[in-house]
Amino acid sequence: MIEVRGIKKAFGDLAVLRGVDLDINKGEVLAILGPSGSGKTTFLRTINFLGPANEGTIRIGDIQVDCKQATKKEIYGLRKKTAMVFQNYNLFKNKTVLQNVMEGLVLVQKMDKKEARERSIETLNKVGLGERLDYYPSQMSGGQQQRASIARALVLNPEVILFDEPTSALDPELVGEVLQVMKEVAETGITMMVVTHEIGFAHDVATNVVFMDGGRVVEQGRPTDVIDHPQNERTQQFLGKLS
Ligand code: ADP
Repeated sequence: MIEVRGIKKAFGDLAVLRGVDLDINKGEVLAILGPSGSGKTTFLRTINFLGPANEGTIRIGDIQVDCKQATKKEIYGLRKKTAMVFQNYNLFKNKTVLQNVMEGLVLVQKMDKKEARERSIETLNKVGLGERLDYYPSQMSGGQQQRASIARALVLNPEVILFDEPTSALDPELVGEVLQVMKEVAETGITMMVVTHEIGFAHDVATNVVFMDGGRVVEQGRPTDVIDHPQNERTQQFLGKLS
């Protein structure tokens, strides 16, 4: 369903992505692991053109885009198929949780307000925030805010949800509730790409794992292979499994 070929990106002289290829099937949960600075976040942001690649092609479903010469229409088409969950939640601070979740449906998808409200409430119930509809982000814990931001992505019914280190900004005691919601989302069969340092989550929830180093995918496979029996020396080092 998602096919990525030859993705390259540089910031000035710094080559950050040096040719990334990936295939993801519908319903797969891909965990992207790797040391800090290996290009994981940069790669994720190329998928929805939040930080466009300099070279390569991206196909999601029926839309294929050549990153070098993407048209606005193609980019819009790709974006409609994706939703992103950010490390720092990116909720509108002057809007309630319900308004935050409704926003994309009303403004982007032009959905009728009443229907958008119903769908948003339903989705907020799913992430355990049904009692917090009228709260502002500042009145909630980081874990609750991140669950709201997952609801905001989920409600759009995208083909793939991109998670950029969704638990990295959280106090340790709040990580579990967010990972639990992500596990439940994964179980609904939606396709997910997750940049994470949570090896346990990658092992138990992901269907596939890629390990990035120096702007390339150096190892990929099932979590039980890549995490339990890494073959690449850099993966072994990272996971503390050097024999
Ligand atoms: P990771 O997510 O694996 O930690 P990143 O994708 O965030 O890695 O960053 C990869 C490299 O790209 C780092 O060296 C980082 O400093 C650099 N980088 C990321 N974003 C920018 C930017 N907007 N401008 C310049 N350099 C950047």
